[in-house]
Amino acid sequence: KTRYRDVVIIGAGAAGMMCAAEAGRRGRRVLVVDHAQTPGEKIRISGGGRCNFTNLNTAPRNFLSQNPRFCISALSRYTSQDFIALVRRHGIAFHEKILGQLFCDQSAQQIITMLTDEMAAGGVELALSTGVETVEAAADGGFRLRTGNEMIHCASLVIASGGLSIPKIGATGFGYDIARQFGLKVTETRPALVPLTFGPEDLARVKPLAGVAVDARVSCDGTGFDEALLFTHRGLSGPVILQISSFWRDGRDIVVDMAPGVDVFELLRQARSDSGRQAPVTVLSRLLPRRLAQRIAEDHGVETARLADLGDRRLRTLADAVGAWRIRPAGTEGYRTAEVTLGGVDTRELDQKTMMARKLPGLHFIGEVVDVTGWLGGYNFQWAWSSGWAAGQAV
Ligand code: FAD
Repeated sequence: KTRYRDVVIIGAGAAGMMCAAEAGRRGRRVLVVDHAQTPGEKIRISGGGRCNFTNLNTAPRNFLSQNPRFCISALSRYTSQDFIALVRRHGIAFHEKILGQLFCDQSAQQIITMLTDEMAAGGVELALSTGVETVEAAADGGFRLRTGNEMIHCASLVIASGGLSIPKIGATGFGYDIARQFGLKVTETRPALVPLTFGPEDLARVKPLAGVAVDARVSCDGTGFDEALLFTHRGLSGPVILQISSFWRDGRDIVVDMAPGVDVFELLRQARSDSGRQAPVTVLSRLLPRRLAQRIAEDHGVETARLADLGDRRLRTLADAVGAWRIRPAGTEGYRTAEVTLGGVDTRELDQKTMMARKLPGLHFIGEVVDVTGWLGGYNFQWAWSSGWAAGQAV
């Protein structure tokens, strides 16, 4: 048997549910299909279980894409303030953590419930545990899909199946395959917002520091972020590393300043002239956690030295180890832990106002599957809401 729906959305994630709610509100008959057992699994695990659902300072500069201007239209038509108004209407309490990042006071589940309630209000049907086997353009217009036991015919098909990160909770390359099937270009994809890993030699040096955190400025090829850095058993993590991972490429160095705004060389020189009997580690411990200060002193063979024994050259080397630590990561932890996928359906293939494929009217791509990737801090969900809303107006 063949069922007819105005709109079929593949993926009951952030973007798909927002799109469904809007299309339903506009009176469209909408079916959302997802192979997972529950909707919004990534929302549930996001922001440490509290969902960093948007950022007050959302602007196009917070997104990476081969076409940085593509996101402007959707972001300005459905803004973070629009989403905040929705959250308020549902009585969900939230707070700003840092840097404009908004989190639920209680639980990410509240955002999922809000979206499923919005979908229900628009009469949206949700088919869970349902995979899509084939998708084809119908000869008489629209699209035909085969799911396990039935055929569905729809006028508009929206691909909201997300990126490749966290395969364990159901991420697949489905959206990219559909794009390619219909002759649309997909840009190179790679894991982003992901911890960086070290090769054996560097790892041996930092492993004893696993668990140590420090506020740092990390830069790569002219882009820099200031946030917390965490040493791990594999290399480096923490918000500042996740941020820079989106800009890092194989074979490039990152530069870590573990005392941003401090002239460490001057500080060491001053300390030497004030009291040359001090150990360097004593001075470094004023800037850094003690274990880290000790490690740096050991690395430079000055763990038992007095400042007075060290000339300017050695102070400079020591200062650089703190303020300009240059290191070449061996890789990333990959899609297993990446928060997002960089790259995706080429934005040149899509209309920025409707997210519709230029070559194939009726086919839309929204959310993470598109080559628009936000920084860490609620930007990725805002892109999901904005692009989902834009398509929801158009289908
Ligand atoms: P998703 O939310 O991933 O939804 C895609 C849906 O499609 C899923 O339900 C999936 O089951 C379904 N699907 C996939 N393949 C198929 C298929 N073949 N057939 C049927 N269904 C399919 N962003 C923020 O802004 N703030 C945060 O706090 C935040 N925290 C995060 C924490 C973690 C651990 C992770 C992994 C990500 C986090 N992100 C965060 C990123 C954010 O979750 C994503 O950018 C966002 O969920 C993308 O929305 P989406 O709707 O495009 O895709």
